[in-house]
Amino acid sequence: TGLTELLLSRIRDVADYPEPGVVFKDITPLLADPAAFTALTDALAEVARDTGATKVVGLEARGFILGAPVALRAGLGFVPVRKAGKLPGATLAQAYDLEYGSAEIEVHAEDLSAGDRVLVVDDVLATGGTAEASLTLIRRAGADVAGLAVLMELGFLGGRARLEPALASAPLTAL
Ligand code: IMP
Repeated sequence: TGLTELLLSRIRDVADYPEPGVVFKDITPLLADPAAFTALTDALAEVARDTGATKVVGLEARGFILGAPVALRAGLGFVPVRKAGKLPGATLAQAYDLEYGSAEIEVHAEDLSAGDRVLVVDDVLATGGTAEASLTLIRRAGADVAGLAVLMELGFLGGRARLEPALASAPLTAL
């Protein structure tokens, strides 16, 4: 579609970043283009409405940049999921495995509750490890998962298949 072409044309491939052999998808040209940023925000806000979301969760850090305007556009609250140690209040934490070692993400426990339906927003779905941990965190907070929406999916990394159990029947949308 025209939307996909516009968005893809504003994503820059950076070779050998952050390490040799990796092609990093850099969304900063898209953010710098108000027409593309608006089109992206509108498309993700439509996903929020279609999935019946009551809250938008953004994954640090680019999920904050995309998720906050999506939440406002959809008339919903925004909740940050952060790397461990950054949130000042009482948190729930979820650890997950990386290629080498592990990582941990956190959410303020009081920001999500039973009855919430949460749309998770991020820029790029890679292996799916971060998204999978965020879905577990949301359910542990007592909320339901409305869906996961990303700007783009790196299909060759198999994130979609990995996320199937954690998503249950909630939709994964890549624009
Ligand atoms: P995953 O946990 O392997 O799916 O990694 C996803 C996380 O890493 C997301 O929060 C993305 O923002 C980030 N990420 C991985 N690859 C890229 C990329 O090529 N461009 C931008 N972000 C990326």
